[in-house]
Amino acid sequence: MSAIQSITVLGATGSIGVSTLDVIARHAERYKVFALTADRRWQVLATQCLIHQPQYAVLKDPASARELELELRRQGCTTEVLQGDEALAQVAADKQVDVVMAAIVGAAGLLPTLAAVKAGKKVLLANKEALVMAGGLFTRAVAQHGAVLLPIDSEHNAIFQCLPNHRADYLADGLKSSGVRKILLTASGGPFRNTPISDLAQVTPEQACAHPNWSMGQKISVDSATMLNKGLELIEACWLFNTLPQQVQVVIHPQSVIHSMVEYIDGSVLAQLGNPDMRTPIAHALAWPERIESGVASLDLIATARLDFTTPDYARFPCLRLAQQAAEVSGTAPAILNAANEVAVAAFLQRRIRFDQIAVVIDQVLSRLSSTEPHDLAHVQAADVEARSLAQQLIAS
Ligand code: NDP
Ligand code: MG
Repeated sequence: MSAIQSITVLGATGSIGVSTLDVIARHAERYKVFALTADRRWQVLATQCLIHQPQYAVLKDPASARELELELRRQGCTTEVLQGDEALAQVAADKQVDVVMAAIVGAAGLLPTLAAVKAGKKVLLANKEALVMAGGLFTRAVAQHGAVLLPIDSEHNAIFQCLPNHRADYLADGLKSSGVRKILLTASGGPFRNTPISDLAQVTPEQACAHPNWSMGQKISVDSATMLNKGLELIEACWLFNTLPQQVQVVIHPQSVIHSMVEYIDGSVLAQLGNPDMRTPIAHALAWPERIESGVASLDLIATARLDFTTPDYARFPCLRLAQQAAEVSGTAPAILNAANEVAVAAFLQRRIRFDQIAVVIDQVLSRLSSTEPHDLAHVQAADVEARSLAQQLIAS
């Protein structure tokens, strides 16, 4: 590696964004920050700009962008402040950028992430919702524009590490052609793995966001508690590795030490292990195919002592079943599932619905809207808008 790589971090102020900047800061000889983006948390972005001195900082929200501009000028920082959706796409696609970390949460990440793909960047994908919504269009754009798509989600990064190196083969002919029998997608089971099912109606947003193993943003924390996150990851795995939902088995593994496994037709099962710290997959994808230090401590297997595995209970986790069904239906069903979930999770966090009603909202939206084959992005976006509006109506009533 010679030239310093220039990086845009979409969603810099979030959990993944902060971990990404931590890894980048350890390797000033390899990486420099080109642009940092957020929605509205301008104070956090201002601190990051002072440390990393990017060329651009982008906020989606105009009022927050004005505050950031004032603060940076006051501090004598020369970072140029931009605002809005077009600017997000612009800093993802800029000619000077080599790598884009796609770490905006939810459907809001789709357009800027696609802009990076269409500009042929190396794209580190944390924003799983983009792939869930528009997997077919997204993966075709990756191939067409020569982008390099690397998974950040810990499970998918683990699977990627356990799969054969000749990626082009399975991307062309499917995982079976590479001798893979199945993917074992591990899940911690979240904070309510052992909570009596009858108590789930009463759980609070604070309890749902208190994940036993991982520290993450609020939305993915709630998704982990309902296990809808594992459903999104199942769909994500199908697109990333060119496989079918039937070839992916969800396994509950409460310790989150094995991050997923790949079983081959000769009976070999390969696993990737490590401490539950997102800096490992981030460092892996940043440096791939090389390896760099991430700041993550050595895994202490003796202290870990035991690794447990069980099968998920669908009565406890109805969202997982709903996502598996959407994966099998395919078409716009995953986009509808994702949209209904985003609305339901936001309503739960605002205490407008109960935890157990998240699944009810998703179920009703999926059963009322039919899936169609998405031919372009506008089609996917229309399905997203329709599902959001129906979910809002159901919640309001
Ligand atoms: P956070 O909520 O911590 O951060 C989200 C980031 O996106 C923030 O920078 C936020 O800005 C920005 N953002 C939110 N809404 C918008 C919007 N409408 N337009 C532009 N920017 C926006 O999320 P996480 O870091 O936890 O997750 C990011 C993505 O990574 C998600 O897709 C998640 O599923 C995935 N992921 C996360 C993991 C984790 O460990 N956290 C693990 C695996 C995947 P602001 O701060 O201003 O709100
Ligand atoms: Mg994950």
